[in-house]
Amino acid sequence: NNDSTEDVTPVRWIRINPLRCYQGRDVNAVLEELGKKFPKRVENWNDIVPGSIYYDEYIPHLYGIHPQDKITSHELYKQGKIIIQDRASCFPAHILNPSKDDIIIDACAAPGNKTTHVASYMFGDAKQEDPHVQIYAFEKDPERAKILEKMIKVAGCSKNIQVTVGDFTKAATPDKFKDVTGFIVDPSCSGSGIFGRKYVDSLNRQRNNDTTDKDKKSTEEDDEVPDEQEDYNKKEDLKTRLAKLSSFQFQVIKHAMSFPTAKKIVYSTCSIHAEENERVVLDLLLDSKVKQWGWKVAAKESVIPTWPRRGKIEEFEEVFRDDPAKCQALADGCIRALPRDDGGIGFFAVCFER
Ligand code: SAM
Repeated sequence: NNDSTEDVTPVRWIRINPLRCYQGRDVNAVLEELGKKFPKRVENWNDIVPGSIYYDEYIPHLYGIHPQDKITSHELYKQGKIIIQDRASCFPAHILNPSKDDIIIDACAAPGNKTTHVASYMFGDAKQEDPHVQIYAFEKDPERAKILEKMIKVAGCSKNIQVTVGDFTKAATPDKFKDVTGFIVDPSCSGSGIFGRKYVDSLNRQRNNDTTDKDKKSTEEDDEVPDEQEDYNKKEDLKTRLAKLSSFQFQVIKHAMSFPTAKKIVYSTCSIHAEENERVVLDLLLDSKVKQWGWKVAAKESVIPTWPRRGKIEEFEEVFRDDPAKCQALADGCIRALPRDDGGIGFFAVCFER
């Protein structure tokens, strides 16, 4: 343990889950039950104080509290009415913005933060649990699939989501999912944007040769300092590891792109490395099949335009240096979040559409 505040998350993000509560009622009722009636706006993370609540200007129903304010023992949390989820991790479902008529596949789903968030967009206004399965969640790791099932149950969307334990690139085929309209692709990554306890866990798993697992479900005890982190970075051949990860990430997205009815794919990582982010986007744009299938990077207007930190333009300039407008559009189509500075984990998101 280390008391340094540098590695402690500046804010804990909680989202109110419309699937579990207050359909037809105001979100204020939940805030009232939390004892935090009047959300404030925050300019600077250092200004956040215990006991208050802060609204987020980007994601509906998302609020920030001071990390000292315990939430996991609260009944609202136990009942799935409140879900702890980093703000940046809420971006993909918000960007996908599915409606109740969509059919969505979450390719790499456990522990299910994004799957259940997607469900809240699709079914959040329903008077009661809608009986239709319209979200198909794939998870390769059987143990993590159990956590996913549990989270889906707690979040109140069991009837809407079907879980398949298996490799998305093999188990999900276009002939089985003839009506799919959109994808969440949030595959395993280096986890380099995660800090504190979660990052230590991911490093430990990587040491144990589990290269496919980094996203532990948030707990109140996440915020310990990874004192082994620096050591690890020196020892591991980062370049080799990033090359393996990015080739896997490319394959997963390309597989999603091969579904003829899909219109929108949101890709995300909690990595700070361009190799797993902008460069994966570039590799896809240069792929002949991807071109043939008609996939493009969605314009800034449809990917949280008011979020200021966008993709790294220099990565696109390396390939399209003769077309500055194209580079700008591609960088603007990507979203980045810096660990801590942007109020949570480091993150990357982009939306492909056609
Ligand atoms: N989207 C999740 C959330 O927000 O809660 C986090 C997903 S985590 C970054 C990546 C997950 O993908 C891991 O649980 C991992 O086991 C799973 N995974 C890795 N390769 C996979 C594959 N080929 N098919 C399905 N799942 C896979």
